[in-house]
Amino acid sequence: ASQGRRPLVAGNWKMNGLRESVGTVEAVRRALSPQLAERIDVLICPPSTLIASCVAAAEGSSIAIGGQNLHAKPSGAFTGSISAEMLADLGARYVIVGHSERRAYHNETDDGVHAKALAARRAGLCGIICVGETREEREEGRTLDIVRAQLAIGVPKGATGADTVIAYEPVWAIGTGLTPTPADVAEVHASLREMLGQLIGAEAQAVRILYGGSVKPGNARELMAVENVDGALVGGASLVADDFLGIAAAY
Ligand code: PGA
Repeated sequence: ASQGRRPLVAGNWKMNGLRESVGTVEAVRRALSPQLAERIDVLICPPSTLIASCVAAAEGSSIAIGGQNLHAKPSGAFTGSISAEMLADLGARYVIVGHSERRAYHNETDDGVHAKALAARRAGLCGIICVGETREEREEGRTLDIVRAQLAIGVPKGATGADTVIAYEPVWAIGTGLTPTPADVAEVHASLREMLGQLIGAEAQAVRILYGGSVKPGNARELMAVENVDGALVGGASLVADDFLGIAAAY
């Protein structure tokens, strides 16, 4: 339920996909109805190796392609890294920033997330800044404190609805089949919206806040109906065109 904001359904393929997976973009393109494409934004974030071919497969459609990570510097001696400028050069329009897997396995900090979000803006990409609590933090009743702090540090000054998307992804819900209740999602999203207001004022109303973590065709309608949920960030279910479109069909 996105109160005038244009919903965004985003797929994060993570480290999955060889050349044949470009066919998934083609399948989404074929099956995405013009009516749905008019109402929502659809984004696919393949591994970096497939960005160029996925951009080509999506060309002339409304499907956007994005990166899953970036280095904050524009270029330089950073072996193995990819900059925002390089992603933009390939035709990517979005980039995921601070996914919990990057935070957990690559020691990404909120300050690092901030630097990467700035880099995304510098290159004209829309940054999808991910926040979310661990199971332990939720059990300790610290969810709102955690996600508000992640947001306060991560979101650049002057962020707008055009260059910034937030994704609330409880770490314990990612890839587990578990999801928070709609009431829990509503509480977190309302709190994030309020925090955004403190950070960027009235522009907070234009920033989309996605829910992510075990979104499937079977639970998408219920989750997407929650107030302040402006779309979904989908992992596992985005690998299969029918499942991904089944989620988009919640709109
Ligand atoms: P999942 O992943 O949909 O497989 O739970 C979500 C994500 O990590 O963005």
